[in-house]
Amino acid sequence: MASFDYDLFVIGGGSGGVRSGRLAAAMGKRVAIAEEFRYGGTCVIRGCVPKKLYVYASQFAEHFEDAEGYGWTVGESTFDWKKLVAAKDKEITRLEGLYQKGLANAGAEILHTRAELTGPNTIKLLDSGRTVTAERIVIAVGGHPSSHDALPGHELCISSNEAFDLPELPKSIVIAGGGYIAVEFANIFHGLGVETTLIYRGKEILSRFDQDMRRGLHAAMEQKGIRILCEDLIQSVTRNAEGRLVAETMKNGALTADQVMLALGRVPNTKGLGLEAAGVAVNERGAILIDAFSRTSAPGVYALGDVTDRVQLTPVAIHEAMCFIETEYKGNPTSPDHDLIATAVFSQPEIGTVGLSEDEAAKKFEDLEVYRAEFRPMKATLSGRSEKTIMKLVVNAADRKVLGAHILGHEAGEMAQLLGITLKAGCTKDDFDRTMAVHPTASEELVTMYNPSYRIKNGERIG
Ligand code: NDP
Repeated sequence: MASFDYDLFVIGGGSGGVRSGRLAAAMGKRVAIAEEFRYGGTCVIRGCVPKKLYVYASQFAEHFEDAEGYGWTVGESTFDWKKLVAAKDKEITRLEGLYQKGLANAGAEILHTRAELTGPNTIKLLDSGRTVTAERIVIAVGGHPSSHDALPGHELCISSNEAFDLPELPKSIVIAGGGYIAVEFANIFHGLGVETTLIYRGKEILSRFDQDMRRGLHAAMEQKGIRILCEDLIQSVTRNAEGRLVAETMKNGALTADQVMLALGRVPNTKGLGLEAAGVAVNERGAILIDAFSRTSAPGVYALGDVTDRVQLTPVAIHEAMCFIETEYKGNPTSPDHDLIATAVFSQPEIGTVGLSEDEAAKKFEDLEVYRAEFRPMKATLSGRSEKTIMKLVVNAADRKVLGAHILGHEAGEMAQLLGITLKAGCTKDDFDRTMAVHPTASEELVTMYNPSYRIKNGERIG
């Protein structure tokens, strides 16, 4: 039997890499993990975590306004961007430390270097030039924002990477894209007082979500003062004499702003990784091709998380890592389960969702019942804020199974997590009906929508 330097070598210190490395090391495997930037990966360093902190920061302006309706007089408030960035940096540095501590405590060797494959079981460490061998290799290198090189002037634009650490808060920003990142950042910047324009090529933002959520969020964002331009594209970006950026659009003329941010999807980090040398195949987008057990085309080489472009979400990468450990080290072949993943868009209001949208369900099932409620959340009564919460359950009439649950409103992300359990458990609408409400909450609406708002038969809406 060949002897290797390590049982497992992990490339990439993000969610999937750290979890697989830590668990394998805790089992007594000889593990090394290499990260070229910062441990924690996209989620901790320039994704989910700092994003959510910025979402909180951006909500205070509305909190201060709302307080008045509840008898408070709030003095003059000011916002200090640099202070927020510094506080965020402190927190992500703390988390980065925790990630490394978890690995070290488990006994993994932590390397701060870029690592590239040079053959099926060999890895080159770029800082020292040393080559090491491993019985198994996990590639969990994640992705990066698409730089959209076809756009003239793309080099003048920022991505979400830079948005977190801008030296100054811009007075105005144009954000291109209609996905998670574009929508979340539009709300963050607007909440921090930035004049914000979102430009999206499709008919309605958030193309993969339920129509009601998309329309409802669009309306809420516009009502706050975010300008949304759908069915339009930026054709070029230039810098004018005053140093501001000018985005020429197809339909809405020139948009002048301090920053232009591109949020047009993310690309797997596979360039220059030595995949060919190792015999690891990729698809046309550069994503590593894997089988149902995260095995690549090269024996002993596995890929997890965003680099495989399955579902680009932190909990999914972690789940894939845990399945890898079960399969490879615990003798329990476990294939990642990508069905019914609950997810949230941290817009303002949030979207929380799990399962099929109404349109998707209508394509798959003959007879649907749709339960839908739209109401003003209780807090908005005294604050006077005009906003709507929308809740929707899509139910298969034949067996009463809840196929999709969708919420637009405060804490919708928190609700989606719990709804995820109910859908995963295969709950029916009858289960929802016999569940006692928690009163007074917004989510009680989910168990008190007794009659369908309308039905959909063979794709046609009835009632
Ligand atoms: P998304 O895939 O969500 O959105 C990309 C957007 O860019 C879409 O609106 C897409 O339009 C548009 N687009 C793509 N190519 C072009 C083009 N050439 N010209 C114009 N528009 C284009 O990607 P994001 O970058 O927003 O986020 C990446 C991933 O990160 C997400 O898929 C998500 O999984 C994850 N993420 C999750 C978050 C969460 O869980 N809350 C938060 C942030 C990110 P169209 O819809 O028409 O294709």
